Amino acid sequence: MRRSMDTILTHAGRDQDLSCGAVNVPVIRASTKLYDSFESYEQSRADKYNSFRFGRYGTPTTFALEQDIAELEGGYRTVAVASGLAAISSALTGLLRPGDHLLMVDSVYGPARSLCENFLTHQGVNITYYDPDIGADITSLFRENTRVVYCESPGSLTFEVQDIPAIARAAKQRNIVVVADNTWATPYFFQAFEHGVDVSIHAATKYIVGHSDVMLGLITTSEPYYTRIRDGISHQGMVASPDDCWLGLRGLRTLGVRLKQHQANALQVAKWLLTRAEVRRVMYPALPGDPYHELWKEQFRGASGLLGIELDEKWRGKVPRLVNSAKLFGIGSSWGGYESLILPSKPVRATRTLSGGPLLRLHIGLESVGDLIEDLEHGFACASQSD
Ligand SMILES: *Cc1c(COP(=O)(O)O)cnc(C)c1O
Repeated sequence: MRRSMDTILTHAGRDQDLSCGAVNVPVIRASTKLYDSFESYEQSRADKYNSFRFGRYGTPTTFALEQDIAELEGGYRTVAVASGLAAISSALTGLLRPGDHLLMVDSVYGPARSLCENFLTHQGVNITYYDPDIGADITSLFRENTRVVYCESPGSLTFEVQDIPAIARAAKQRNIVVVADNTWATPYFFQAFEHGVDVSIHAATKYIVGHSDVMLGLITTSEPYYTRIRDGISHQGMVASPDDCWLGLRGLRTLGVRLKQHQANALQVAKWLLTRAEVRRVMYPALPGDPYHELWKEQFRGASGLLGIELDEKWRGKVPRLVNSAKLFGIGSSWGGYESLILPSKPVRATRTLSGGPLLRLHIGLESVGDLIEDLEHGFACASQSD
């Protein structure tokens, strides 16, 4: 039987032999590993990815994190790489060959779209961007050479929840690999493999590390795709630092409690934002009334702290003042740390549920929610005095 998520977070990846009895495994930094004999060296070369061989393939600290994530996701195995974007690029370059066709969701994270436009297309990969609302109709876009369907749910900046089970059912019939970026929900709130995903990607930089001080990416695969992706990572010499993996493990221990608090705070802020005249739409699928609320309820166990808002068009000129006067909300990219952030956002695609007003992305942190609301209220008040 699978252990429950909170127990995995607390107990996985804690080899007592490695830690000499201390609670946590240490950071094991290494390039060279020393072998005790000719035979053990030869043996380790034969057994490529199952033991500590050489720093570029990870050290026992890396493996502790990888095992922990694989168990949390309910996948076969996990590989750690140096950033979330490296996780996306190594999964896609591992799976795709020149002449293959990739179906990429149109609401994808911006740098992943750049990877497609500035790298994959030059490698001879054909790419079609599909509507995040497509569901089972994805079959109408399948070609003979379609190899991967890439999902991100909810979408970056615009927060469309995808019908991943329907997409995965369609893809399975054609042996097409379903890759999903699961950064927003983490395995704690979205069990990708239960919903038919074959390869799940995380910018662990965000909630898994949780403290805004590490770049880290994770790729978890089902069994058929592990070796292909793992080999690609080895061939390219991609590696995550053991120190960063250790910080990833440190973050994981509190992932559950942090996410529950991010969710509670974000839901309260989202509900308050709905009451504001300046706000035309709140993009947060956990909000009853959000166009994606039902789909979210069917697939997700919770919602994290990242949401979007669309302001009234009249507010376009006041956005800089709003952003500058909210003091608890930092102005910065990335998210998933313990602290709140606010940024203007400019999605590439037009979204049906939006009407062209200025957009902002908010990360709701672990501060007191009353203080956060007061800070935004102050921001709106300062901004509205600016004309
Ligand atoms: C931030 C982010 C990434 C990239 O992660 P990095 O660690 O910053 O490279 C990938 N996907 C999503 C959805 C993200 O938000």
